[in-house]
Amino acid sequence: MRRIVQERPTRRRGEHVRVKAVVLLCSDPGFKAPLKALMRLLEVRSGEGDMPSVAGGVRDIASPSNDGDRAYVLGQIEKAVRLHHVGQVILTNHADCGAYGYLQFQNEDDERQFYAEDLRKAEKVLRDHLRGIGLKPAISKYFLDFHGALEIR
Ligand SMILES: [Zn+2]
Repeated sequence: MRRIVQERPTRRRGEHVRVKAVVLLCSDPGFKAPLKALMRLLEVRSGEGDMPSVAGGVRDIASPSNDGDRAYVLGQIEKAVRLHHVGQVILTNHADCGAYGYLQFQNEDDERQFYAEDLRKAEKVLRDHLRGIGLKPAISKYFLDFHGALEIR
């Protein structure tokens, strides 16, 4: 074999990294700008976030097409929380998402309501799952759209 990159990683061997947040994202690269601004606002700098990216973001937790998909995403978050001692999980989804089938809405408010509801569902499922194994990170929810990001309560 031949070394083609000469660059040190940001941690030492055996060192346990502490990650500030697990941020569940959709793999759609089109919402990087509002996401980046949101991370700046939440003070999760690059390298401080564990960012599992799956098609649909929270969709596979809230309304998965099968139980295996849900178990996979929950497992990824669970591992990140455990391995990296994470105190907060940030859940996201976004407007006009292909993993939801590019759903059509009467207006942007209807769309916001739909995705907000899916975020709430996902939070409940995730919270119940993590509590069941003794993990209690803070969970917050954000919807990314064509204007920026909305905090969902
Ligand atoms: Zn998407």
